Amino acid sequence: MALIDLDKISKVYRMGDMEVHAMREVSLAVEEREFVAVMGSSGSGKSTLMNIIGCLDRPSSGIYRLDGREVSRLDRKELAHVRNRTLGFVFQSFNLLARTSALDNVELPLVYAGVPARERHARAKQALERVGLGQRLDHHPNQMSGGQQQRVAIARALVSGPRVILADEPTGNLDSRTSIEIMALFQELGAAGITVLLVTHEPDVAAYAARVVVMRDGHVVSDARQAPRPAAPDLLTAPPATTTTTGNTTNTGTTTGSGPAAAGALPVAPKGASA
Ligand code: ADP
Ligand code: MG
Repeated sequence: MALIDLDKISKVYRMGDMEVHAMREVSLAVEEREFVAVMGSSGSGKSTLMNIIGCLDRPSSGIYRLDGREVSRLDRKELAHVRNRTLGFVFQSFNLLARTSALDNVELPLVYAGVPARERHARAKQALERVGLGQRLDHHPNQMSGGQQQRVAIARALVSGPRVILADEPTGNLDSRTSIEIMALFQELGAAGITVLLVTHEPDVAAYAARVVVMRDGHVVSDARQAPRPAAPDLLTAPPATTTTTGNTTNTGTTTGSGPAAAGALPVAPKGASA
């Protein structure tokens, strides 16, 4: 059975008298270890699809099974558990705490999961090493390039040991070389057995995936497997990275972004947390 199984999922947003059909009877099955790029113009329903797959939003109709379990039948606690153990989220704007070390940013989901400090620290360090930031544990996001910030965000997604990474336009704020670096990293994670679903506008980025799903007006209009382009060799010929930091971190010590995105970065809020 597919790890992710959407059966005629529709999503209607109601705004006053207006109905927006963000997804229209989308059926999609993604097997464990697939690397899928979701493409489509702005407003075609890509983020809605990712939010439903990520259990951040509920479908209006249809059935969603994640790892064989019907998501709508799970209670809050079960849903939080499934989300924490199965899914990791990465966003275009990184959603990191700006004046908090990389290590502390990556530890945060484990704090909320109640993991003891020593284990948290070890796992966060390991996750940062896995994304190539083992030498930058104490750096703050506002001291890092956009690509480094996105690596911290990927480490944060990995630290809970998810089976699936959901990334909504993860290269949207990055220059082309840095985008290739991030795609090389996703390919490595894919080779290590993680299922990757990633939204992108750019055909150059989608070329690194093994399957491309195209959405238009809430429908899946094309779904094709392809031979993925290996990203690592492209780094040999890619132009150097631009040095500007394009990340959307702030100096307030709070997370950037809001709504499902920010909630997804920290899927389980601690009791009484102010974040
Ligand atoms: P994409 O990510 O492909 O740009 P979205 O999934 O964000 O598209 O949006 C699909 C459609 O649903 C758009 O018309 C958008 O305006 C609408 N939409 C998305 N989220 C909401 C919301 N929370 N409330 C109302 N309409 C929404
Ligand atoms: Mg979107």
